Amino acid sequence: MVIVLKKDVTKKQVDHIVKKLKEIKLRPMVSRGVDRTVIGVIGDESRLRVQPIEAFPGVEKVMTVQTPYKMVSLENHNQPSVIKLGNGVEIGGNRIVIMAGPCTIETRKRTLDLAKIVKKAGATVLRGGAFKPRTSPYDFQGLGETGLKYLAEARKLTGLPVVTELMNLRDLPLFEKYADIIQIGARNMQNFDLLKELGKTRKPVLLKRGMANTIQDFLMAAEYIYSHGNHSVILCERGIRTFETATRFTLDIAAVPVLKTKTHLPVVIDPSHPAGKRAFVPALTRAAVAAGADGIIVEVHDNPEEAVCDGPQALLPDQFESLMAELRLIANAIGRTI
Ligand code: PEP
Ligand code: MN
Repeated sequence: MVIVLKKDVTKKQVDHIVKKLKEIKLRPMVSRGVDRTVIGVIGDESRLRVQPIEAFPGVEKVMTVQTPYKMVSLENHNQPSVIKLGNGVEIGGNRIVIMAGPCTIETRKRTLDLAKIVKKAGATVLRGGAFKPRTSPYDFQGLGETGLKYLAEARKLTGLPVVTELMNLRDLPLFEKYADIIQIGARNMQNFDLLKELGKTRKPVLLKRGMANTIQDFLMAAEYIYSHGNHSVILCERGIRTFETATRFTLDIAAVPVLKTKTHLPVVIDPSHPAGKRAFVPALTRAAVAAGADGIIVEVHDNPEEAVCDGPQALLPDQFESLMAELRLIANAIGRTI
């Protein structure tokens, strides 16, 4: 850490800062320039949590060197984390994982039909929400436990593990029972009580980036789950809010290479929610694979006209099948498989 002092800092103020730093077992080194004095500090920066140096008289700014997230950082664990699901599917390995299915679980028949459709096209995980975070309270809120049961039945039929969104801590026991991966939606990325509690489960968590959160916020949210004991965390970029209105959200494709330099956790892309329209989904998905994502979570529906949620962005089964063929070529070109 480097502490830059104000131009008019006094010797008394410098001595005071140095004394406080030594008290918390940090090693300060004062360098006096012609114009400015700076203090280089060696030691564990997390000790500064009890000593907010920025608030000391004479301090202009504090520049930290260490990342605020520790356990999810690549510095602390320089091997990529590979998360194993019960049925042999691995997330974060060489094979890119394709999670596909409807936005929302609607009927038993549709769930089973779509599970068969996406499996045939090559998906290895089935997605579908039973508890839906809808912007309007008047919109369909999901089938709840019944939806989870349909997902479990689809898993039995196809062997596909299921990923589904948890919104409320109260429902965690149901997810322990039915889900293979617990999805935490963009709107709950900073629900810290929920994140802490997820630290206690051993189910993998797919954590979606909040639509107005930085990559650092995202990693800090992952750190909550990881530091509370659950090391199976998958990051999912799903688009952020920008000034652009031509798409539903702006897919931050750069988040993939950026996250890969900062964390060992697997990175998945959701191309459906940023696209908002099915016409844009294939290009965003191809870009995600090319950028180095470890997985894709994409919405597919066999009759989007009837979809209760996100019909306009759902790929039709045929489109999904041809997209899969393209993704295999891209994966092959970068030394990966699907
Ligand atoms: C979803 O996956 O259907 C969903 C609601 O996602 P997000 O939390 O990214 O909006
Ligand atoms: Mn959706």
